[in-house]
Amino acid sequence: MIEYNDEDLLMLSGIQHISFCERQWALIHIEQQWAENQLTVEGNWMHRNVDSPQYISRDKESIILRSVTLVSRQLGLYGISDAIEMTPSLSNQNYMIHPRYPGKWLLTPIEYKRGKPKKDPIDEVQLCAQGMCLEEMYRISIDKGFLYYGETRHREKINFTNELRNFVKEQSTRMHLLYKQGKTPSPDYKARCKSCSLLDICMPKMFAKTTKVNTYLSELYQL
Ligand code: SF4
Repeated sequence: MIEYNDEDLLMLSGIQHISFCERQWALIHIEQQWAENQLTVEGNWMHRNVDSPQYISRDKESIILRSVTLVSRQLGLYGISDAIEMTPSLSNQNYMIHPRYPGKWLLTPIEYKRGKPKKDPIDEVQLCAQGMCLEEMYRISIDKGFLYYGETRHREKINFTNELRNFVKEQSTRMHLLYKQGKTPSPDYKARCKSCSLLDICMPKMFAKTTKVNTYLSELYQL
């Protein structure tokens, strides 16, 4: 099994970018380009409280930890979780011990998102990657997480199925491959581009036109 070194770790948040579009991931994580649009601004606004490390909430049944640092050497990813819910574990095998809170705890990652549940698995894949980091860090197993959506104000349970876990592994392997090659894939204009924050930087329509002109000129030249 591959184990990545510190210097090879990539940002966990990138897994949602590469699941959305490989070119978007490469523009952000290889070329360091970023642009805000309404969707990203709303997303950042939603995270403003969640991302405060001091912000811990507690009730009779659970403790919520905010901004927990995550790492997986097997996936080669590091990042920060929005929130981790700790609930008492009844198992003698599957639990973690927290230095500040006595007892045995089960961990459940929670990720906050603007909008509502999506048709594609972009949000699920990020959450599952967080769960896989926690499993590796604490040698526990986690079967689910929650996605909380700002628009519906409802949290959705996401089961960490083998299919989802395999998708996380495939996407993280792909990220490492592209990063090693330092290669940004060419644009491919699709419906998703309309909501992409990098549309103006990427210019997929312009690329398609230029490719058409180049093809035309090369065919003309050969004539
Ligand atoms: S505009 Fe389209 S092709 Fe370009 S990065 Fe965004 S989603 Fe990908």
